[in-house]
Amino acid sequence: MGDKIFTKQGWVESLRGLAGDYMVFVPVKEGDMYAFRHLDNDTKVAFDDYHNTRMSPKSIVYPQSERMFEYSLDKQDPDCNILKEVPKTFAPQAIVGIRPCDAHAFQISKRNFDTPEYRDPWWVQRYEATTLIGLGCNSPRSTCFCTAMGGGPFDEEGLDVLMFDMGETYLVRALTDKGEAFLGKLNGGRSADKTDREAALRLSDHVRDGMPDVVPVDPIRNKEIKDIFDASFWDDVAFACLNCGTCTFLCPACWCFDVQDEVYGREGDRIRNWDSCMFPLFTLHGSGHNPRAKKFQRVRQRFMHKFKYYVDKFDDGFQCTGCGRCVQFCPVNIDIRDVLRLMSDEPPVRLSA
Ligand code: SF4
Ligand code: SF4
Repeated sequence: MGDKIFTKQGWVESLRGLAGDYMVFVPVKEGDMYAFRHLDNDTKVAFDDYHNTRMSPKSIVYPQSERMFEYSLDKQDPDCNILKEVPKTFAPQAIVGIRPCDAHAFQISKRNFDTPEYRDPWWVQRYEATTLIGLGCNSPRSTCFCTAMGGGPFDEEGLDVLMFDMGETYLVRALTDKGEAFLGKLNGGRSADKTDREAALRLSDHVRDGMPDVVPVDPIRNKEIKDIFDASFWDDVAFACLNCGTCTFLCPACWCFDVQDEVYGREGDRIRNWDSCMFPLFTLHGSGHNPRAKKFQRVRQRFMHKFKYYVDKFDDGFQCTGCGRCVQFCPVNIDIRDVLRLMSDEPPVRLSA
């Protein structure tokens, strides 16, 4: 299928027609922020005015809190003390308007959840049931640095479909079989012609050329772990940090979780919850020992994992997409780009901590 052109209104109407085939998520405005929500007949879709959602769409594949198993503690119950998987649905779903940086993040997280040694059954099934319909970024924010992380405002990695906002219309391009299947179910639109495609290319080139490439990352690859680990700047970086965990919870590429049992009377649930390396309990051992008891150790871990351990392990990319959420929402203005400069032995230009 070639590229298609939809009027903006026609695109949303076509998406509404998919209700029987997909659970469709779109960006909507809530207060001063944006969030992905189910599309229904009353949804006010915010494709036109949003830069990105506050929470990344990772929760659509990897819920913030998920009941894994349930069990009975009633000795009269023949299934007493037997863990039973809680039924889950993996119906087809589509995230429409996902930014390329957030689609890139699923590729990063896949290295944790879908490996040759272990496949997380729930993450994998939900990811495979999800079609990612990206919306290229016409006007990236000052906090965005996707190009420094190997992505771009119109990057296709991890997307099934890419939309170009051409003003009055969208040019829509299928990138995978999943994307073809999705577009094949939509009504309306017309085939794009050469003029349309050239305009889309001009747009994406123009936006990409305007992205600042302010973050030096290559020097980190070539440095020894120990040299960065023992650097003297970590105390300064950590000084202002509140260990609030905002950065890790908003991050599309953070995947840490904790498993807890919750018991109500004679019934119990085993639940998986997002966790954060910023919290002291995250690494507390049963013995009482905590290898990251100090704040600077936890702050260091976040950056070392994203920009050194991950890089050395996979020799490809970073555990960051440059979406800029942690820059935008850190309550004490710690800017990950400044920390990258420190890790690269570059002078910080805007260190806020
Ligand atoms: S959002 Fe800022 S203050 Fe909160 S844990 Fe992250 S770096 Fe620290
Ligand atoms: S570390 Fe910050 S900039 Fe990088 S992907 Fe996570 S939230 Fe976005």
